[in-house]
Amino acid sequence: MKNISTIKEFRKWRKNISGTIGFVPTMGALHEGHLSLVSKSNKTCEHTIVSIYINPTQFAKGEDLDTYPQMVRADLDKLSQFEADCVFLPDNSEMYPNEIITSNYNSDLFKILEGKSRPSFFKGVTTIVAKLFDIIEPTHAFFGEKDYQQFTIIKQMVSDLDIPIQIVPCPIIREENGLAMSSRNKYLTEYEFSVVATIFKALECGKNILKAGEIHADKLKREITQIINSESAFQIDYVSVSNRNTLKEIDGELEGEILVSIAVFLGKTRLIDNFTYSLSEEHI
Ligand code: AMP
Repeated sequence: MKNISTIKEFRKWRKNISGTIGFVPTMGALHEGHLSLVSKSNKTCEHTIVSIYINPTQFAKGEDLDTYPQMVRADLDKLSQFEADCVFLPDNSEMYPNEIITSNYNSDLFKILEGKSRPSFFKGVTTIVAKLFDIIEPTHAFFGEKDYQQFTIIKQMVSDLDIPIQIVPCPIIREENGLAMSSRNKYLTEYEFSVVATIFKALECGKNILKAGEIHADKLKREITQIINSESAFQIDYVSVSNRNTLKEIDGELEGEILVSIAVFLGKTRLIDNFTYSLSEEHI
């Protein structure tokens, strides 16, 4: 597994690689969620390239850029057990050499859900992903459904900008208690970890209500909200029911493919989770 930290060296190495190339962009502190993306890339493509880069432009002032977990050596150890051909580990001067940052993509999707609470987040994400796509030149790129809005926006971006990369969604990997794996879970205290399963319980309950035939968005949101609020340690940022493809909020009757997503604070840690559901399919 080759480790490369400059764009120049990467492009030189990349010239000799052909066939299908899977790309897994990450911010490091790798867990089984990240590794499931690498594994899917291994299965789908002839080559796999992983990037580890904590992108400063997607953090707002006051967010956790300075404390975001960094453990590159452990990450490389974990990756060595997969068939990753190369790990790209650039630094800030490599990715943002100029003071003025040009971004070439904008979308109304930046303003809703995560974007409401984190107004500069998707501008930062799309800027770095577009730059990485240009450097890596993959045929496929793998994104986790845990960040469903991010996956949707990247899919939209490659379509809008005619970028010839197939965006592959990967299912959410969870801890035994149902908590969606995240590098930020390291921030949770023992007590917080003991109550955090309530998020998954609330979503599971939402899914069961849908399976039982509930078709009103308000009722679904109310039930989920009630379960989260039963644990006083949580502060809800949003509970949303939207169209799975357009991410447009649904307030009335539900139909078609939906995305149920939530963001909550547990102490200082902000956690997100979701599930998708099809009302057009039979659920047993
Ligand atoms: P991050 O390092 O948090 O930027 O995540 C890098 C990629 O891993 C993104 O595509 C995430 O959606 C994905 N990812 C993070 N956590 C999980 C998880 N629990 N299950 C599946 N994918 C994940």
